Amino acid sequence: MSDMTDDSLRELYQEVILDHSKHPRHFGPLEHATHNAHGYNPLCGDRITVHLVLGADGRIAHIKFEGRGCAISQASASLMTDMLTGRTAAEAEKLMDGFLHLVKGEEGVTGLGDDDLETLQVMAGVSAFPMRVKCATLAWHTMKSALEGGSRSNEPAKTE
Ligand code: ZN
Repeated sequence: MSDMTDDSLRELYQEVILDHSKHPRHFGPLEHATHNAHGYNPLCGDRITVHLVLGADGRIAHIKFEGRGCAISQASASLMTDMLTGRTAAEAEKLMDGFLHLVKGEEGVTGLGDDDLETLQVMAGVSAFPMRVKCATLAWHTMKSALEGGSRSNEPAKTE
C-alpha cells in the first residue's frame, strides 16, 4: 500500500498541515455572522467555533473560525475555511461527506472534483491514526451544525 512515492507525498502533506496550523487562514471573529456553532473534542481538548455568513444567493460568503487545539484540528479548520468559502450549503455538505470518508480511510470517495480531492488528500494520512480522526473532523462537524442550526445572532445578513 505504501511505497516511496507515498512517503514523499506524506512529507509534503505534513508540511501543508504544519503551514496551516502555524498560519491559520480565516482565523478570528466574524461580524454579522448568520450561522455559528461551537465544537469540542474531549479526547484531545480541541475547541473550535465556526462563524459564517450565508449570502442571499445561498453561497457561503465568509467563514472564520476561532479556538485552540492541536495542529491537526487547527490545520483542518484552516483548510476547511479555505475550501468552503464561495460554496453553496449543498456543495459544502458534499465536501464534508467526502472529507469524513477520506479521514476514516473508507473507500469510494465519490462526487468530489479532482481539485477538491487533491486538496482534501492532504489530511488523508490521519486515517492511520484513529485518535486523530476526531481532531481532523471537529471543524467539519462544527461547520455542519452551524449550517443546520442557523444563527443565534439577531442581525440579518448583510451582503456586500
Ligand atoms: Zn486534537
